[in-house]
Amino acid sequence: MSAILTLNAGSSSIKFSVYASGAAPEELAIGQVESLGSDDAQLSLRWQGEKTAAGIGKTDHAGGVAAILAALEPVLDGRTVAGVGHRIVHGGTLFDAPVALDSEILSALHRLIPLAPLHQPHNLAAVRAAIAAFPDAVQVGCFDTAFHRSHPWVDDTFALPREYFDKGIRRYGFHGLSYEYISGELDRVDPTDHHRKTVVAHLGNGASMCAIQGGKSVASTMGFTALDGLPMGTRCGQLDPGVLLYMMAQEGMDHTRIRELLYTRSGLLGLSGISNDMRVLEASDRREAKQAIDYFVFRIRRELGGLAAAIGGLDTLVFCGGIGENSARVRAQVCADMDWIGIALDPEANRTSADVISTGRVKVRVIRTDEELVIARAVNMRL
Ligand code: AMP
Repeated sequence: MSAILTLNAGSSSIKFSVYASGAAPEELAIGQVESLGSDDAQLSLRWQGEKTAAGIGKTDHAGGVAAILAALEPVLDGRTVAGVGHRIVHGGTLFDAPVALDSEILSALHRLIPLAPLHQPHNLAAVRAAIAAFPDAVQVGCFDTAFHRSHPWVDDTFALPREYFDKGIRRYGFHGLSYEYISGELDRVDPTDHHRKTVVAHLGNGASMCAIQGGKSVASTMGFTALDGLPMGTRCGQLDPGVLLYMMAQEGMDHTRIRELLYTRSGLLGLSGISNDMRVLEASDRREAKQAIDYFVFRIRRELGGLAAAIGGLDTLVFCGGIGENSARVRAQVCADMDWIGIALDPEANRTSADVISTGRVKVRVIRTDEELVIARAVNMRL
């Protein structure tokens, strides 16, 4: 019997899951390594209904993969890892589907590092570590950008001189694995919805929205980088580019300081001055916390209108991600006074995060997203 491992490597963490391969992958365990690079890296694992955590000392991504391997020994119980699936943030314009990773493709992905300098190097470090650990396993890359390659040109371009588009300065879109999962789930639970007009709101620490028609992404709020669109835990979301010119000219900010500002000090954290965590903000009675939530909701409502216009209407709205799946308050605020577009919430269904939380013409759903399963399926197909 063989198993599939999925790896989702960030700057200081690696999320992983392991599946038994077969007709469909079956989850055995999930976990993550956190605080890589610090003195107290930790590995947590959920297996057979139990959650365990242990320190693994100071280590890098390769050490993290080694620790995952050791922790998975009892889970694998003699199964060999026949395939490893990797979440890779950027596939550029090269990849519109998962791909088996060979040295030529890895070189191509390496050349995309300038497009995603904060994520791509860690993704590729995990691939190298996994190749070393499982030399006989198929390694599959699954891209956050791939689902959006169906966008029409008007949604992919900026109004800059054309040469920049040809140089790759265009809107790629992200969170594609989540949208692919949701699109598949809609197909499963209600095939008629799936082929109509859907907007998905992936609201987590990273947040974006996507308009889907006939199972294909038509437009999304994230663009060239994962900064655009909605405000996020610590990222600013849509920003007038003139602000950056001002920051450089008047505040003397250089590239490093601007990057740090936009990625790590903005969004819910920057607005509230309290936290990037929605649970903390919802529990706070401070005005700044409420204002941060209000801004988040306001931007979601604006984008909802814009995305519905991009696909000429709305039949289904899906909430997913940590906030979308759990925050009845955010969902209620987003859907308030939306009868003009056909949205009416069922307050009790919303309170309990039921599968369908609407009573109006537009079906509003809560779907728990599962990016790892999308990756595992892509590997399973290749075994
Ligand atoms: P994610 O990045 O998808 O794991 O989502 C993380 C975000 O979801 C954080 O802002 C959490 O505060 C938020 N979140 C998780 N559970 C809840 C909850 N029960 N109510 C409100 N927000 C939540």
